[in-house]
Amino acid sequence: MGMERGNHVPATAGFRSRRGTQGFVIRDTKVRRLNRKWGEVQVPKCGWVRFRWTRPLPEKPGMARVTLDRAGRWHVWFPAPQPALDREPAGAVAGIDRGVRTALVTSDGQHYRAPRISDRQARRYLALQRRMARQRKGSRKREKTRRAMARIQATVTDRRRDWAEKVSTRLVQDHDVIVFEKLNTKDMVKRPKAKPDPEQPGGYLPNRARSKAGLNRGILASCWGTLATRTGQKAAASGAHVIYVDPKHSSQQCRWCGHIAKENRESQAVFQCKGCGRADHADRNAACNVLARGLATMGVPAHAPGHGAHARVRRRPSAGAAGTTPSAA
Ligand SMILES: [Zn+2]
Repeated sequence: MGMERGNHVPATAGFRSRRGTQGFVIRDTKVRRLNRKWGEVQVPKCGWVRFRWTRPLPEKPGMARVTLDRAGRWHVWFPAPQPALDREPAGAVAGIDRGVRTALVTSDGQHYRAPRISDRQARRYLALQRRMARQRKGSRKREKTRRAMARIQATVTDRRRDWAEKVSTRLVQDHDVIVFEKLNTKDMVKRPKAKPDPEQPGGYLPNRARSKAGLNRGILASCWGTLATRTGQKAAASGAHVIYVDPKHSSQQCRWCGHIAKENRESQAVFQCKGCGRADHADRNAACNVLARGLATMGVPAHAPGHGAHARVRRRPSAGAAGTTPSAA
């Protein structure tokens, strides 16, 4: 919910940090609607402040939190319980593989791509980063550079939140049980190894390409965090379940026979079992393993190595949803 910029919300005491998100809380919030897009909230010692009305508000907003993000944008948040999603339990279950390229593949073969930073934005961001490295700490120019970087981050954050909202709604609406891997997101944002340049033996690909890949990895990792949180909240409010399982070997294990080998993974995209010879899209194979492990914790014998069985998934058709591409499996 973006509060109109340029409004002067008083800077009260109690800010935690000068550089992070700052803000304060309003109790006994008074809100009035001006029109479809705009509303006003009463801020103590300040009066009515306009804000952009971006989603339905609770009937009686008890309190509101006003924050100033690092990009210099004011927001006003009205905490409210997560409303239940409109869904019918149909016995559908899904395992989710968190890919590094495609963000997410479900065991029923849905692919979702996470938002990425555009080439233009990445170039600009990295240039700003280099500029900031040369600027004196605490200088006004450096602060200006930081603000410009934060503004780029803010647009990415907005897209990430939007993505997580849409995908989590889809997941919870379509499934009674959703199984995620327990992943340490810190592992996903580790500094990438230098990539050898295939054209030039002994050489490495330009640092800039790697830096951009690093930015995207960071975005992907935060997408995961937001998605997992929102999926959990929506599931809890809507009668669905989210389960986390150990991801160990989920991408190397055959979902039909259970054979585990590094060699099963023919390439980034193809899984070819050296035990039983069956092949599948690699991410989908992993997602099915994740699902089987989740169901196993519930006592459902979905994965029976040797029987060629895996969980059947029924899904209501809902083509054309945002962020989906047809299965590549
Ligand atoms: Zn196999």
